[in-house]
Amino acid sequence: MKDTLKHRGMRNKLAELLIAKGISDKKVLNAIRAVPRHLFMDSSFEGHAYQDKAFPISAEQTISQPYTVAFQTELLQVEPGDKILEIGTGSGYQTAILLALKAKVFTIERQIELFKKTNIFFKKMGYRPKKSIFGDGYKGLPEEAPFDGIIVTAGAPETPKSLLSQLKMGGRLVIPVGEDDQTMTLYIRTSEKEFEKKELGVFRFVPMLEDKN
Ligand code: SAH
Repeated sequence: MKDTLKHRGMRNKLAELLIAKGISDKKVLNAIRAVPRHLFMDSSFEGHAYQDKAFPISAEQTISQPYTVAFQTELLQVEPGDKILEIGTGSGYQTAILLALKAKVFTIERQIELFKKTNIFFKKMGYRPKKSIFGDGYKGLPEEAPFDGIIVTAGAPETPKSLLSQLKMGGRLVIPVGEDDQTMTLYIRTSEKEFEKKELGVFRFVPMLEDKN
């Protein structure tokens, strides 16, 4: 599969739709216009890649809906050079959006097949996260902390304390919290022990699973 003018046209339309749905950050919209979402999906879904829908990838996981990706990314307020930790690499689409915003991206995935497949894809496409790690995102990545931003792309039953503790002062954690459906939650670190918390609407994600080993 290739990226063509037709795909670019569809991405422009998708960006217009996201604007109509309330996304206003120009850098985020430009990242949506730039990243060829169809290449992150199975070729049988190519015709649907620029609809605002989630789609199955492998290992019973999904590529998040473009609106959700844009909404979470907007909340992160990424500046060039920011250190961002992503939990749930999945297809790598959100990773690529963060890279388009010139972030230094650290990403963690717990499904081995997906981890392998997506890392081969990153190499092929020339996407270069600082680190792409196979492991359990509940622990975060203490050896690379603190982060300017942490984004969780799976539904967490509750907010892991380890992730909050790995934020810089002023850093942001964007995490969908809940069991069946999730409340998008933004935490901003205001002091060593204090966080400003905002709840921003209901979404539905695949679950964030804990590794027992
Ligand atoms: N950002 C992805 C979304 C994939 S769905 C994309 O744009 O395609 C969520 C992903 O989180 C799945 O791939 C799932 O395997 C992964 N996941 C679930 N629990 C996890 C955990 N504890 N640590 C790391 N990844 C996890």
